[in-house]
Amino acid sequence: MNRYVIDRALLEGNIACVLQAASVPVMGVVKANGYGFGLREMALALKAQGVNSFAITELEDIAPLRDAVGEGADILVMRSTALADEARHVVESGCIASVGSVAAADALAAAARAAGVRARCHLKVDTGFGRYGFLPAQMDDVLACYAREDLAFEGMYTHFAAAYHDVAATRAQLSALEQVAEQVERAGFAAGVRHAANSPALFNVPEAKLDMVRIGSAFTGRVITLAPTPLERVGYLEAQVIDVKTLPAGSGVGYGGATRVKRETQVAFVSAGTQEGFGLAVEKPPSLRGALSAAKGAAAHRRLEVEIGGRAWPVLGEADLSLTLVDVTGGDVRAGDWARMDLNPMMVSPKVPRVYV
Ligand SMILES: *Cc1c(COP(=O)(O)O)cnc(C)c1O
Repeated sequence: MNRYVIDRALLEGNIACVLQAASVPVMGVVKANGYGFGLREMALALKAQGVNSFAITELEDIAPLRDAVGEGADILVMRSTALADEARHVVESGCIASVGSVAAADALAAAARAAGVRARCHLKVDTGFGRYGFLPAQMDDVLACYAREDLAFEGMYTHFAAAYHDVAATRAQLSALEQVAEQVERAGFAAGVRHAANSPALFNVPEAKLDMVRIGSAFTGRVITLAPTPLERVGYLEAQVIDVKTLPAGSGVGYGGATRVKRETQVAFVSAGTQEGFGLAVEKPPSLRGALSAAKGAAAHRRLEVEIGGRAWPVLGEADLSLTLVDVTGGDVRAGDWARMDLNPMMVSPKVPRVYV
């Protein structure tokens, strides 16, 4: 049976590395099943090193996260929602809401009144991502939200669109957030905790750290940065070789016979494919890929590899839905051997068990 293997010591090392690089409090982003590492396991690993604020996007994650981290931890719901039932859920579960529009403020205020509380919230500012958030030009709307009695603003934040490669654009977004904070304070309100940096910004644009950083992918060691970091790449899929066969020279492989083997080829069938997420994730920044393809022409198409018996072997053709053909010519690969496939845990189906070693 396939499994996704996570080396706990490497994960803990990455968390320690992030805490050290941050030097300000870290909000642990555990969306998407804890970046594919398991929501509970990831949250507990963070909590064990003193992280006490967490962020999620899906409301279904609130209950299991609360169960893992306890009542004392802060949970920021990063989705700014104008839906009444979602706002009620956020308020009733004692989370911190994100307010990114007047409609979201209305929904949250109504939920707070119904619950007889002031709703804890952070202002979400859209400084260039184009997703949730008030535009910096909407200061009148923003200040009207701060004036509402049912809302208790404790902080404000924005999300970077290109921190993995564009420092200038990131700085412009940062400065837009700081201007909103200044205007809020000038109007007599407290801006509270300002936060912006995601994983690439933490390493690429240190001045973006502000009062807190919101980190997810760096814990998995799968983050694009301009300079090398001490982070270790964590996690791999383990799947078994279910059979081996020999193809004569000239044989076609896969749909359409697009791949032809030039020589007699030993092929191992590995029981995992695109269904498990193999061959789907691309973690290279566009600029790097551009440089690569300029250098290598059409051959820049990323070569997929699978490790069997401690050696990397090339994949033949494209990965199939639930099977990957691997060229193991000249090796001693047999049915029953285990293959390691490097893939981003976020792409791995939640059906695949996560195993901590
Ligand atoms: C996912 C997310 C993060 C974390 O980003 P990483 O690059 O994975 O660290 C931070 N903030 C928001 C709003 C997010 O959606």
